[in-house]
Amino acid sequence: MDSCDKYNECTYINSDLAKDMGVFLEALKVKYCHGDYKKCARYILGKKIGNDKVPQTLLPAELEEAIAIANKLLG
Ligand code: SF4
Repeated sequence: MDSCDKYNECTYINSDLAKDMGVFLEALKVKYCHGDYKKCARYILGKKIGNDKVPQTLLPAELEEAIAIANKLLG
């Protein structure tokens, strides 16, 4: 399976916030970044509104939050 093409520029996965997650971060990378990245809330939202507008703190599993942000910005 392919890896996420946003991996090197992702403002969450490369943040100090994420690094503090330790082993949970590794599980998240396996599940999303190197797995089902097309189901990642950050990936989906980035495609809709632009990667630069995705909040740094949005977690890959926070799909409902991503939809709310997209609806707010896109109307
Ligand atoms: S957190 Fe999501 S957007 Fe960021 S690298 Fe992983 S799969 Fe891609």
